[in-house]
Amino acid sequence: MSENDLIIADIGVIGAGPAGYSAAIYGVRAGLTVAVWTGPEPGGQLMTTNMVENFIGFPEGIMGPELMERSRQQVEHFGGQIINEIVTGIEPQDGEFLIKADKRPGKVKAVIIATGAVARWLGTESEAKFRGRGISACATCDGFFFKGKKVTVVGAGDVAMEDAMTLAKYADSVVVLVRGTEESMKASKIMQDRAKQNPKIKFMFNSEIEEFLGDQFLQSIRIKNNVSGEMQEMPMDGVFMAIGHKPNTDMVKGLVEIDEGGWIKVKGTQTSVPGIFAAGDVADKVYRQAITSAGTGCMALLDAKKWLEHK
Ligand SMILES: Cc1cc2nc3c(=O)[nH]c(=O)nc-3n(C[C@H](O)[C@H](O)[C@H](O)COP(=O)(O)OP(=O)(O)OC[C@H]3O[C@@H](n4cnc5c(N)ncnc54)[C@H](O)[C@@H]3O)c2cc1C
Repeated sequence: MSENDLIIADIGVIGAGPAGYSAAIYGVRAGLTVAVWTGPEPGGQLMTTNMVENFIGFPEGIMGPELMERSRQQVEHFGGQIINEIVTGIEPQDGEFLIKADKRPGKVKAVIIATGAVARWLGTESEAKFRGRGISACATCDGFFFKGKKVTVVGAGDVAMEDAMTLAKYADSVVVLVRGTEESMKASKIMQDRAKQNPKIKFMFNSEIEEFLGDQFLQSIRIKNNVSGEMQEMPMDGVFMAIGHKPNTDMVKGLVEIDEGGWIKVKGTQTSVPGIFAAGDVADKVYRQAITSAGTGCMALLDAKKWLEHK
């Protein structure tokens, strides 16, 4: 097959994270032909983390990149095709779907969108240095590593409150940094009250992180008061970003229904377009875990298979 040939498959999986690989494994093992377009980050979000300790089957934990490399091998072992390209669009065509990509487009009978989501970060240089070395965007995933430590949560919404309470179970102290005033917080009153009643959790308003400091790992943060301009350095072992996630749905805007936050709307895993299914973080603003993504990847494939059988 030349580089410009159209890839032909029963199922086109868009995205190569836990959801996409899981869907692909179920597909090839069910005797379907499956092509996976990997996009910009083959392996997905877990490529950016170190130890994963909550994926079943690995009692000592497993490094995120290793877990995803093994998953890729599992797809290929059963005959799945992996295409290292970004999909630029999906077009329904003659009862099938054209997968648009620069060099290796495809024609498939059903599509599973598993393009994930990206956490929003502050975007500073010092933050980039300590990501995975004290800075995280997932309290559920990484909170356990901060037993007896000092941590900060950045954010003012319900997720920030929930993260603060999750972290308070492990950490000695939790500071919630709110950029605006107390009155401007987006979190519901009930969530704010719960967090405020927790003796381990303290709030700092009108405050933001100016710089992350440390050697190999994060050791302290420099905080700026937005009103007075005053700076203070605070020893800190961990910082958790809770300033939102952006689902990777630009490519399907106008094709499938998405909600106001950009997440794909699904019934089970079925999107608003028959034959297009969605799995993993791209359709899940609540759980956002590797194991739930792998689970919905499996569900999407089984739904797609059933849809093809009854088409
Ligand atoms: C730092 C960090 C640590 C984490 N730790 C844990 C943990 O310990 N345990 C846990 O359960 N969860 C953890 N998570 C969460 C977990 O990584 C995600 O829930 C999971 O990866 C979501 O899987 P997914 O397959 O839906 O999407 P993703 O992993 O986000 O993968 C999306 C895939 O879609 C591809 N893609 C995007 N756009 C396109 C396009 N246009 N064309 C083709 N492909 C495209 C990407 O390249 C990528 O391959 C962590 C997340 C982060 C950021």
